[in-house]
Amino acid sequence: MIELRTPAEIDAMRPAGRFVAEVLATLRDETKVGTNLLHLDRRAHDMIRAAGAESCYIDYHPSFGASPFGKVLCTSINDAVLHGLPHDYVLRDGDLVSLDFAASVDGWVADSAISFVVGTARDEDLALIDTTRRALAAAIDAATVGRKIGDISAAVAAVAHADGLSINTDFGGHGVGRTMHGDPHVPNDGKAGRGYPLRDGLVVALEPWFLQTTDELVTDPDGWTLRSADGSRGAHSEHTVAITSDGPVVLTDRSFLGVD
Ligand code: MG
Repeated sequence: MIELRTPAEIDAMRPAGRFVAEVLATLRDETKVGTNLLHLDRRAHDMIRAAGAESCYIDYHPSFGASPFGKVLCTSINDAVLHGLPHDYVLRDGDLVSLDFAASVDGWVADSAISFVVGTARDEDLALIDTTRRALAAAIDAATVGRKIGDISAAVAAVAHADGLSINTDFGGHGVGRTMHGDPHVPNDGKAGRGYPLRDGLVVALEPWFLQTTDELVTDPDGWTLRSADGSRGAHSEHTVAITSDGPVVLTDRSFLGVD
């Protein structure tokens, strides 16, 4: 069921968006060569506790997950791109890091993801990250009242295809509200002008993610971490966006924290 939020409800979602932005900006700042992924998860856990927020991940147990997630942060490294389960791994020079974080504040959820490289970056990794960011920007631009879900999907796909990337549509954007995943699904590929109409008060997480040379995923033995089938690297950019008659409002915007 698709739920539309009143302006007052969208205002009530702002603290969640701001909290998620602050956590990702902090983790982005503190993640270096030599950082252990378990430390990042603990750091996020501490910030959740200090803020009186709630994790959306720790008890998360959908049909595709082998067991409850058990952590509060997704850490996907190099050829891992989504749902990376934090484990005892120390980041190395040139690692491509994707952090995905969702939390609930005052009963409202926000969800966002960022990709970056620690240490010396390869040009092709920076290019992939740039593509996901531009695809997210195009998705946000398309998230206006009167258009359709398919317009967002087509905008994402156009950016990916222009850069020669293929697209996996098994995982994509989604409605966000009292829970992390709601209707509508927002695929990262689709036809402009098709699908659910974008109405005032629709709140969605938009999340382009791409792999360098494949669109096929494999699941790690941990039951969660999704990797490229061919070992090529992945990147992911996500924001929670409220579609309003005044235009799209990026609830998880972190640019004011100096981290875009
Ligand atoms: Mg997310």
